[in-house]
Amino acid sequence: MLVWGASGLFFFRRLHIPILSDQFFYMAVPDWDIPLYSWTRLRFLLHRSATFHSALIPIVLLIASLWGIRRAKLNSNSLRWWRWLRDGGIGLSVGMSAHLIWDALLSSTKSGFVIYGWTHSASQTWLALNLLVGLGVPFVMVRAMGGSGTGNSLN
Ligand SMILES: [Zn+2]
Repeated sequence: MLVWGASGLFFFRRLHIPILSDQFFYMAVPDWDIPLYSWTRLRFLLHRSATFHSALIPIVLLIASLWGIRRAKLNSNSLRWWRWLRDGGIGLSVGMSAHLIWDALLSSTKSGFVIYGWTHSASQTWLALNLLVGLGVPFVMVRAMGGSGTGNSLN
């Protein structure tokens, strides 16, 4: 999930394997707004969209997983799936943050990291805020888990 968020599984692109060579596999999650926009024509998906170039998606996954883990304590057979979602969400959050840094530093456009339709300063504020959340939340969660890998206090 970490790699997926950051760069996508780009190596599948040229292999032409059905499904695995599809855009969603080889593109980084933040850049999914490109194919999604070409399908849906929804204006909020125009690249770079605030929806995908943010901590929004991984944070929603993490909240869902924490909610699920809490619920699954009563009914433990789904617990490992919720934990898998939580770990995937942590990886995705860090990976997407890395992608945002990448976009900001190595952007192909002269204006740098700009959310479509936003001003430069609003985009920079958005970037800083989402890096704080996108890196801070996983950091706090991993610390709360005690770094044991199996998890303690969050379980
Ligand atoms: Zn991007």
